[in-house]
Amino acid sequence: MSVETTQTETKEKSLNFLEEIIETSIANGEPRVQTRFPPEPNGYLHIGHAKSICINFGLAKKYGGKCNLRFDDTNPVKEDTEYVDSIKEDIKWLGFDWAGEYYASDYFDQLYDWAVVLIKKGLAYVDDQTQEQIRETRGTISEPGTPSPWRDRSVEENLDLFERMRNGEFEDGAKVLRAKIDMAHPNMLFRDPIMYRILHTDHHRTGDKWCIYPMYDYAHGQCDSIEKITHSICTLEFDVHRPLYDWFIQALDIYPSHQYEFARLNLTYTMMSKRNLLKLVQEGVVMGWDDPRMPTICALRRKGYTPASVRAFAEMVGVAKRDNVIDLGKLEYCVREDLNKVAERRMAVLNPLKVVITNWEEGRVEMRQAVNNPEDENAGMREVPFSKVLYIERDDFMENPPKKFFRLCPGGEVRLRYSYLIKCEEVIKDEEGNIVELRCTYDPMSGDGSSSDGRRVKGVIHWVSADHAVKAEVRLFDNLFVTENPRDNSQGQASWEDNLNPNSLVKVEGWLEPSLKDAPVGQTFQFERVGYFCPDRDSSADHLVFNRTVTLKDTWAKINK
Ligand code: ATP
Ligand code: MG
Repeated sequence: MSVETTQTETKEKSLNFLEEIIETSIANGEPRVQTRFPPEPNGYLHIGHAKSICINFGLAKKYGGKCNLRFDDTNPVKEDTEYVDSIKEDIKWLGFDWAGEYYASDYFDQLYDWAVVLIKKGLAYVDDQTQEQIRETRGTISEPGTPSPWRDRSVEENLDLFERMRNGEFEDGAKVLRAKIDMAHPNMLFRDPIMYRILHTDHHRTGDKWCIYPMYDYAHGQCDSIEKITHSICTLEFDVHRPLYDWFIQALDIYPSHQYEFARLNLTYTMMSKRNLLKLVQEGVVMGWDDPRMPTICALRRKGYTPASVRAFAEMVGVAKRDNVIDLGKLEYCVREDLNKVAERRMAVLNPLKVVITNWEEGRVEMRQAVNNPEDENAGMREVPFSKVLYIERDDFMENPPKKFFRLCPGGEVRLRYSYLIKCEEVIKDEEGNIVELRCTYDPMSGDGSSSDGRRVKGVIHWVSADHAVKAEVRLFDNLFVTENPRDNSQGQASWEDNLNPNSLVKVEGWLEPSLKDAPVGQTFQFERVGYFCPDRDSSADHLVFNRTVTLKDTWAKINK
């Protein structure tokens, strides 16, 4: 067991490191907690973002503070309102509410004014070098960079040029504004980082008002400061940016927000970055951003996950300071745990075998009482029709069963869930020898759960009435990738494209008990003995479609007991 796991498990009692930081500042007389969740609206949120959302909104809630939603929309090229809307929907679905909704673009004027302040202080200059030249002259870890020939322009000239950049006098890439820090700094980010670049591109909110856009490092801390964020929480890869974050705030002498980093969530069999997810969508590998095989929040929702299960998962993986990869099984464990408590039970047969009850009167239908959820006494009962012709799961019958097979076999007896005991009297086969039907008799005295002579029957199987069952397309999902690390290229040139699972989606025809005909999209059920399923948004009255949320089998819990 790794150290990381031990920390996670003891977390319930002790505080995580972010809570420790907050409690220390409360003890030091700063009780205010103001966090923010800062997505870039360039894609749909994924399970990694869900973790960040739970941390930011969760900490604010725990300490009586507030959490803002701030769209980090400083790059007009990749951003879109479609993404803004989906992000808002996903956060709400997860059960969180933001104190304020802000956009980095709301602060463009202020950020521009502050850039002017830095120019006037001699801390920023306009550079005519191309971005490529700038990259080439940055030096290396062991060698200092080369100062730009434009580094010592006068304040007046810089003010003039920066204004003309804003006014659209120059083409994309012709000039940039750089902070004037130290071309020999050991932290490469301090070697005169770019603050603004020219982009003659319309922005989804500011339209054509701007043709210069701030870079992340210049914008982020200042946006935090404007909103008086006390704890700016981000992922570990930003730790090298923290000194620069502080540098701008100090140079401008504005509200001192502070940045804290935690390890980003990685999951086995899962690709997380929006850039790659967009590729999956664009190349048609999946049906869209909400394809249930995607790790996006909208996909989890479509697949039948509950918000509580995603929050429980975020809680379970905890907050770590070191990068690690979490077993996807943990996420599935969390959804099973929650659905077991809240999902109503139904019966459905995914691989049908016809059963005829020979001693049942033709045309007779009996409504059987079924428990909706044994874990929830308020969930009530429902009626399930029982009749002469039934479907059972093909796997629940074996012609030559091994010793401990307690389901149906020739001459054997089994209990039908919420119904009678049946005995297999005859096996009917087609010309090729395939079993096509079982002829059975039922014990009329066994309807109350007993049997006519007190004999005991071990097996219980589920069933549906053939005349009453509704047909549905059932989508069985599996991991999108066959390798734990989708980008594993240890086998030579392999890329994630080579690691795709050809069986990640298998469609079967299932027969469902009739009450499922009107099941609403958004409700997940347990198909008894089969798994958890929910109606897909593609489902219609003429063509029912159900998604498998997760199987019943829980390999992760077993391995880790
Ligand atoms: P990606 O690289 O997956 O596209 P991103 O970091 O570019 O994600 P942003 O929209 O910039 O996405 O992220 C918003 C917030 O979510 C940031 O604070 C970021 O640190 C956090 N975040 C992103 N990915 C993860 C992850 N895998 N685990 C935890 N937090 C994450
Ligand atoms: Mg980003």
